[in-house]
Amino acid sequence: MANAPVQRMSQLMAKTLRDDPADAEVLSHKLLVRAGYVRRTAAGIWSWLPLGKKVLANVERIVREEMDAIGAQEVLLPALLPREPYEATGRWEEYGAELFRLQDRRGGDYLLGPTHEEIFTLLVKDQASSYKDLPVILYQIQNKYRDEARPRAGVLRGREFLMKDSYSFDTEDEGLAQSYALHRQAYQRVFERLGLDYRICAATAGAMGGSKSEEFLAPAEAGEDTFADCPNCDFAANTEAITYELKPVDGTSVPALEEIPTPDTPTIETLAAHLGVEAADTLKNLLVKVDGEIVAVGVPGDREVDLGKVEAHFAPAAVELVTAEDFVGRPDLVRGYVGPQGRGEKVKYIADPRVAPGTSWITGANKEHTHAKNVVAGRDFEVDEYVDVVVVQEGDPCPKCGTGLKLDRAIEIGHIFQLGRKYADALKLDVLGQHGKPVRVTMGSYGIGVSRAVAALAEQSADDKGLCWPAEVAPADVHVVAAGKALQIELALDVSEKLRAAGLRVLVDDRAGVSPGVKFTDSELIGVPKILVAGRRSAEGVLELKDRRTGEREELTVDEAIARLT
Ligand code: ATP
Ligand code: MG
Ligand code: MG
Ligand code: MG
Repeated sequence: MANAPVQRMSQLMAKTLRDDPADAEVLSHKLLVRAGYVRRTAAGIWSWLPLGKKVLANVERIVREEMDAIGAQEVLLPALLPREPYEATGRWEEYGAELFRLQDRRGGDYLLGPTHEEIFTLLVKDQASSYKDLPVILYQIQNKYRDEARPRAGVLRGREFLMKDSYSFDTEDEGLAQSYALHRQAYQRVFERLGLDYRICAATAGAMGGSKSEEFLAPAEAGEDTFADCPNCDFAANTEAITYELKPVDGTSVPALEEIPTPDTPTIETLAAHLGVEAADTLKNLLVKVDGEIVAVGVPGDREVDLGKVEAHFAPAAVELVTAEDFVGRPDLVRGYVGPQGRGEKVKYIADPRVAPGTSWITGANKEHTHAKNVVAGRDFEVDEYVDVVVVQEGDPCPKCGTGLKLDRAIEIGHIFQLGRKYADALKLDVLGQHGKPVRVTMGSYGIGVSRAVAALAEQSADDKGLCWPAEVAPADVHVVAAGKALQIELALDVSEKLRAAGLRVLVDDRAGVSPGVKFTDSELIGVPKILVAGRRSAEGVLELKDRRTGEREELTVDEAIARLT
């Protein structure tokens, strides 16, 4: 086995920094930049330096091994993609501003792939003709492109980022369930090997549609997702996915939810003006009556207004503005409709609050959602139909057992999704079935944020001294520090070579003219699990071995140190 050569810090393309970068808000961003793992090239666009690339490659290797272990086949599809397949599924438009669109010299439309369902569907359409060719799982590890509104937090949310995306193709629903289960297990093994603390959370309101979806969330302050965890049962869900069933207290049934077409959401002022009503500034959302029925229109604030569309659905003559008082003591129906979500599905909600007089239950706006505030399921209403109660508060009842939920911030590191036949329908993916008739294929899609996992690991494992990698992903097994002059450097290089020969990955700080203090600080910032110091007792051939995480030290001879580390 050809061992990797010893990595000498005197030659390493990685400068450590004493100070946090000015624009860095979260820990992993600060530390990965300061320790010389990554450098910003443009907003949300990152370069990986040697140490960073090693960690990234380790994560990649673990993901690859576990994908291969479930029989998935690795491929590499282009990231530069033609418009047509995305046009066929509607995503050329639906993806909105997050999609990087570009043109070639002839004016042909292209995009940089944000996720590849269309292209994989077409690949299988080309390659598979019979049910005997299925099931199949294909994956790639490739850069993805999304023009994120807030590319923040370093590599946690890039506009270019490395993803493992896989796609399963089955003829039967049971087959899809099996492919999904295989991915779920593979993801558990990946995240366990990475040493990440994570939860598997329901990501969509299961009973609302056929599709099932779960997210792998890594608890961390820096996370942009909030998940609810039940202290009493196994319920865990992204708060975006929590639904309550609504049942009116007096037993009358909730009227059927007919779809209210999504108006492009205007600001409350422009919409109110257009409708010829006054916007009450106590309301963040416009609440109007249409044909006597109260309708809530989510208003995210600064979105473009398509008044034509609004007018089509809310004829001004039929509209009057509702004030908070309209709700007090009345079980009026409020309906809402939330626009396209991540993968193009829509979320409906219906709320039938039984508002106690004096409670201000009315709404606030956040993203595309309308929120019921100060409404307590069970107190203000019973549940019977699915409703997206978007703002779940700490202590709200667990939908499974009623215990008060705990809320925590987390980073989405993986997402698995039973797509069903949506893409196969749009792109007409059939194979010949057992009885000679064409069968429509059913699909799943599954993602791991490979570059994001590096940052998530940094978030969870760092301490006040710096990065602190779990062994399997660390850029080296041991960091040898020459704390002194020529004698120490010579010993450090000699020991490093022996450790390398024994199969270890070695980083050695052989820089001349850098003080031991600076070298110690750097070794702690860089975060290799074991630090071996050639210091005061080098002449006697005695080294100090330090554990990066616990700080425990012991003095050992060269031979003892090698035996201990191998
Ligand atoms: P988010 O909610 O954070 O925007 P997403 O739900 O849009 O993520 P998916 O479409 O589910 O992301 O993509 C699969 C995985 O790719 C995610 O679980 C996440 O780990 C990773 N990922 C998504 N967007 C980014 C990004 N901008 N930078 C880094 N990793 C990302
Ligand atoms: Mg996203
Ligand atoms: Mg998400
Ligand atoms: Mg997701």
